Amino acid sequence: MVQDAKRSHMETKRMVEKDPPLAKDDLILITGAGGFIAGNLVKYFRDKGFTRIRAVDKKPLYDWYIRVPGVENLCLDLSIEENCRRACEGAVEVYNLAADMGGMGFIERYRVECLRSILINTHMMESAYRAGARRYFFSSSACAYNVLLQQDPNVRALKESDAYPAMAERGYGWEKLISEQFCQEYWAERGLKTFIARFHNVYGPYGTWDGGREKAPAAICRKVIEAIDKNNLRITIWGDGTQTRSFMFIDDCLKGIDMIMHCDELIATPINLGSSELVSINELVSKVEAIAGVKLKREYDLNAPRGVAGRNSDNTFIKKVLNWEPSTPLDQGLRITYNWIKEQYYARKRGRRVVE
Ligand code: NAD
Repeated sequence: MVQDAKRSHMETKRMVEKDPPLAKDDLILITGAGGFIAGNLVKYFRDKGFTRIRAVDKKPLYDWYIRVPGVENLCLDLSIEENCRRACEGAVEVYNLAADMGGMGFIERYRVECLRSILINTHMMESAYRAGARRYFFSSSACAYNVLLQQDPNVRALKESDAYPAMAERGYGWEKLISEQFCQEYWAERGLKTFIARFHNVYGPYGTWDGGREKAPAAICRKVIEAIDKNNLRITIWGDGTQTRSFMFIDDCLKGIDMIMHCDELIATPINLGSSELVSINELVSKVEAIAGVKLKREYDLNAPRGVAGRNSDNTFIKKVLNWEPSTPLDQGLRITYNWIKEQYYARKRGRRVVE
């Protein structure tokens, strides 16, 4: 409550000056562009006709999931301030999606790595401010929410105020929450227009599907494809399968980022960006089985990381402000994702280099 009161004080303190609409040749900087969401975001802006996009990631170029022609691609480690300065030179809008992250298997095991992403946002925000960027986007997460509110599979959906009193997910969630604070204070104190979307699980083509950082939808698609390919019709599910989540298709995520970033009402105001279609992991497996036309014997690994018992996105606020919410049905998005992963799986089997 104290937190909310403080924040609304900060937000009303500053008058919002109108800035000119983004021109097609204004420089857009997108970080984490070798990864899933930012890679797709580069393509999204390119398809919208923006001609000057700078894409940055620490991975070597050959490891980027998507490389869009005509884009300036830079390999820089953004936990180093000097590199953030270089990245931000001349940028009008900055989309910071770089972070060391992955699915539950990664964020429960590598909390230090997750926490260290604080360096990226800290240096990026200062560099964007110094470079005179007009707008700054930060990709926060539903992991910033109080875990005590997520102990039951039949959860009430999380609304924006549920992040406080703070009890975020250890490591990853706390990094996101502190970075949100940076966004809010840079606006309050220095007038940088910042935007904070709390993503709820995003899935779709060009996402990680193997190697330990993949999230549930991609992991389940891969396991089903593998089971069919190896004619070993079993699947191992992490936890007891009753844990619930909502999953947002990538196209909704991209549209949401664009709308949030260009809505002055949302300056320095965290907002949910997620689907509100709640499913259990067992239901998710059934959906993928239906797409693949197979039934597998389920085995439950009760020692595997399972995350909170339930989590869903309350979309009241986004519907009110943007008159929109992510709405691609899970069945539709999953089918597209399944087919893409299947293609990747068999391409790799034929010896081709693919997104992992
Ligand atoms: P991703 O792992 O595919 O992409 C992140 C990219 O950041 C990677 O390519 C990585 O190499 C890069 N990166 C990491 N450290 C870096 C550094 N020091 N310098 C430069 N680049 C660096 O992840 P994603 O799913 O595309 O997630 C993008 C953002 O959205 C992240 O901030 C993530 O926390 C957030 N988010 C994602 C989800 C989701 O479901 N995918 C959910 C909530 C929040």
